Amino acid sequence: MHGEGDRLERLRAAMAAAGLDGLVVSEPGNRRWLTGFTGSTGWPVVLADDAFLVTDSRYYEQVERQARRFRLERASQRPLERVSELVAATDARRVAVEREAVTLGQMQTLRDAAPQVDWVPMAGLVEDLRAIKTEEEIGRIRRAVDIGDRAVTMAYEEARPGITERELAWWLERFMRENGAEGLAFDIIVAAGENGSLPHHTPSDRPIAAGEPIVVDLGARVDGYNSDLTRTFSFGPASDPDYERVYGIVEQARDAAVAGIHAGMSGRAADDVARSVIRDAGYGSFFEHGLGHGVGLDVHEAPRLSPAADDSPLREAMVVTIEPGIYLPGRFGVRIEDLVVVRDSGVDVLSRAAKQPVLEPR
Ligand code: ZN
Ligand code: ZN
Repeated sequence: MHGEGDRLERLRAAMAAAGLDGLVVSEPGNRRWLTGFTGSTGWPVVLADDAFLVTDSRYYEQVERQARRFRLERASQRPLERVSELVAATDARRVAVEREAVTLGQMQTLRDAAPQVDWVPMAGLVEDLRAIKTEEEIGRIRRAVDIGDRAVTMAYEEARPGITERELAWWLERFMRENGAEGLAFDIIVAAGENGSLPHHTPSDRPIAAGEPIVVDLGARVDGYNSDLTRTFSFGPASDPDYERVYGIVEQARDAAVAGIHAGMSGRAADDVARSVIRDAGYGSFFEHGLGHGVGLDVHEAPRLSPAADDSPLREAMVVTIEPGIYLPGRFGVRIEDLVVVRDSGVDVLSRAAKQPVLEPR
């Protein structure tokens, strides 16, 4: 177990293991997770025996309130040059920067301002720590899950044939905002009929007919933490004769994953628990994305559940999606996505929205 207080110590242990004297944080989710600071601009710097946050005058007071374990360094002009100067004034010489979040221009600024420091591009230092959630973080995710569950339930009850993809997306967005979401986790996907074969279709003005499979993928954000949920349904029996059978295969894949995934298994092995069901049913080439991803301050974060994932094991208290799908070009798509907490003994499913492949005709 771990609380919020030891995040800095956990990071320092990871830095020491990687032979680093320091880390400059730039990824927004990493910044918030590590410091508590929710503003949009600021450079936390962690050294073996110091931690400070460089920001501009808009955020001085906020940093002092929120980032209690970080010393505020004021820099209204050229904050990144200030980072370089402050690091260069210490004896830290091997200092990591986040290569997935730093621009080439920022890297050049660091190097020009402090050429005596070895600025090392690295990925995953904070992300790997963030992937394991505290119970408090899981509580926030649960609240975001609940809002998404209720939004889909509202759609089951109130939507009718003739509504457009875009209208339904707006209903869902408005419902979530009116029921406690501080924002959306991402732009809502509503994909009816043949649009459903595009996993990330943008809702259009196309009216949805009775009998068309509809893929709805949405998430809410609460206290910075996201949810992610997909349901597929049709108004009345589907017009495509294969829909219910394909739905059943995706549901079996989802059920196999929920029954078979546990801490200690690699993200690749977890992916294969569901993928093998779809492959054995003859639809392997119609499921081309990974089975799932971590969810937290970002809606896509570590770990990955995918054929391309590495061998590192899933760990107790990671929060991940399980989202198998089958996409038949020109016809329809089916995806079922639940959010789960990985445990040593299996997974706890957080998503509660009913699975109703065929709604009552209306
Ligand atoms: Zn999703
Ligand atoms: Zn997802």
